[in-house]
Formats: sequence, structure tokens, C-alpha cells
Amino acid sequence: MSFFDFHTHNKASKEKAIINIFHNEDIIPNKSLSCGIHPWYYNENYKKEINTINNLAKSKQIIAIGETGFDPVSPANIELQKTIFIEHIKISETYNLPLTIHCVKYFHILKDLKKEFKPKQAWIIHSFNSKPEILQDLQRQGFYFSFSNTIFQIQKKAETIFSYVKAERFFLETDDSELNIENIYLATSKLLNLDIEILKNQIIKNLKDIGIWLG
Ligand SMILES: [Zn+2]
Repeated sequence: MSFFDFHTHNKASKEKAIINIFHNEDIIPNKSLSCGIHPWYYNENYKKEINTINNLAKSKQIIAIGETGFDPVSPANIELQKTIFIEHIKISETYNLPLTIHCVKYFHILKDLKKEFKPKQAWIIHSFNSKPEILQDLQRQGFYFSFSNTIFQIQKKAETIFSYVKAERFFLETDDSELNIENIYLATSKLLNLDIEILKNQIIKNLKDIGIWLG
């Protein structure tokens, strides 16, 4: 079994991975995919795009909704960001697909929405690299996390994050980097002082917990 990459933009990835496609992109044959509107591309004409995602979600190959979420650099104001994010929540709940979240800064809004919607599907904040206190708070609210290489940029912070996060609450990913997913597993295994096979198995178990079964 190879190392599972929870979120990648590398469409040619040969790994077991969730490859992200945007709403205007086609299904890639024989791959597991996620699909959503990235907050950088939110716009007033989102309804048509949401419709497309709604249709794509019917495909067996779409195994997660997103990435979608909140970002101060989004061209949409915060109200519109909320509106479009809520549309993604609905698709995630309708098709029983976990929600992959891109969130910069607006964690309080995300938290409030989780309380309001009480989703059955897992909400995973991908490439999480915010304050450890924010992780602790969100973890208490039931969020999952996925870490990319960015988490290892500051050693002390990485140590704190990995001391806080529960083994059953995280995944690993390459995101838009060209790194090999195996290196991210190696760095994590070193930091946690955990055998890499145990780490791999834990993540496979975490995937099952959120409804993703690896064939
Ligand atoms: Zn991404």
C-alpha cells in the first residue's frame, strides 16, 4: 500500500490520492477526486458552478467536496463567501461526501457554521498551518486536519501542532507542491517518533472513519 495523499493538485499523481479538480475541469479517468469552488474564484455567478459540482458529485470518482472555504484574498466579500460555502455544505451532506476546506483567517465563521449546520460529514481543514490554539479549539469542535509541507517550515510550531493533534484526526497531503508524499510521511513519523507503518495504518483508519475506503 502506498502513502495516501489527502489533497493534491497534481493531476498526474501516481499515488493513492484525492486529486482536486475545479468545477470547470473534467473528471480524470480512474482517479479519486475532490471538486469544489476555491474561494479565490468565488464570484457572483456561482449558481451555475454549484450546479456543475452538484452533477459531478454524482460520479463515483468524486470522493470529497472542496476545496472550498474562506480567504481574505477572495474577490468575494465575506457574505458571499458564506453563501457559496453553504452551497458546498449542502452538496457534501446530500451525497455523503466529506468536505475539504481551505481556510485562512476566518476560523470563527467556520466554527459557527459547523455549529449551525451540524453536518454528518467530516470537515477537514486542508494544509492547516495556523496557530496551535486554533487547532485545539477546532479539534474540540470535531474538525479534522490535513497537513502539507508548510507545517514543517517552523520546527517548534510543528512540534506543538503534532503534540496537540489527535492521531485519529489528521491526514497528510502534498497540495500544490511537487514534493513526494512519502517525504511528508517521513517528516511526520520523525516528529511523532512513530513508526511509518503505524502512521500509514492510522491514516488509512482515519480515512475509513470519514467514509473513504481504499480499494
Ligand atoms: Zn489545494
